[in-house]
Amino acid sequence: MLKVIDLHCDVLYKLATMEEPLSYENADLLQANKMRLIAGKVHVQFFAIFISPEIPQKDKFMAVLRQIELFHTKVLAPNPEMVHITDWSQIDVLADGQIGAVLTLEGADAIGEDLSKLHAVLDAGVKLVGLTWNPANAIAHGADAEPILGLTDFGRQVVDVLNARNILVDVSHLNEQSFWDVIKVAKHLVASHSNARSLCDHPRNLTDEQAKALVDSGGHIHVVYYPHFIKAGGELVKLEDLIAHIKHFANLVGVQHLGLGSDFDGISVFIEELKDAGDTQHVVSALREHFSEEEVRGIAANNFKSYIQKVIATG
Ligand SMILES: [Zn+2]
Repeated sequence: MLKVIDLHCDVLYKLATMEEPLSYENADLLQANKMRLIAGKVHVQFFAIFISPEIPQKDKFMAVLRQIELFHTKVLAPNPEMVHITDWSQIDVLADGQIGAVLTLEGADAIGEDLSKLHAVLDAGVKLVGLTWNPANAIAHGADAEPILGLTDFGRQVVDVLNARNILVDVSHLNEQSFWDVIKVAKHLVASHSNARSLCDHPRNLTDEQAKALVDSGGHIHVVYYPHFIKAGGELVKLEDLIAHIKHFANLVGVQHLGLGSDFDGISVFIEELKDAGDTQHVVSALREHFSEEEVRGIAANNFKSYIQKVIATG
């Protein structure tokens, strides 16, 4: 079993929206609950704060604070093995049995046009920010937005703050124009949960040109387990179909720039052998059929660790 770093899950959104209170430790409804992270040997899990576009703008920031509170009261406090990663250097010193928990923001709609709200979210320990979810906001245009509209003037100010505070900028949900605008200005780039558009033509996936430009700009790509982003139609998708995206990106940009970003708890259809975080080692086994042990270790965790070393060095 190899330790894995997973760049995206939506546990906090589920904790915030399920009517019944859920135990983070073992609730069956949570695909990335603690017991499943342990079973799948997930060593560092990223937890996205995600606010539905249906929440009125005036209530969105409160909803962010609520998810931060749930991260503390449901994920961290009752589970002493869960360690809040507020400094990247903590990842390298996690003890066996400890699981790093990284707070991220998926779509920054909630800050409106108020940079002080962005600073407040970063002060809470958020280490990676996706500027949009699928719709547009005051910062940029998402995957569902008009493709020719990109980063706004306010969005440029947001990226400046993220750069100044050494925060990772996530391009996964951006539309094409926003992507091209953002990679020119963001210091630390990552696609936390995106696949290859040349294998599955979906606006959430990266074109070959985008993948190359992202890696040329120092970014990494973490593939996502969602069947609709793996194969058109999302029917009968197998683990091998996910591996095909990794092989495609490996040929295109180099395997050392790749990693994993499950999207557990943000998805409700699955690859048969990959239904929750407890199945994570199935990905590792499948990777071993195609890559050397060192390359598999890279995709599982070490590539991200190398990436983070550069982030730390520029801080
Ligand atoms: Zn997402």
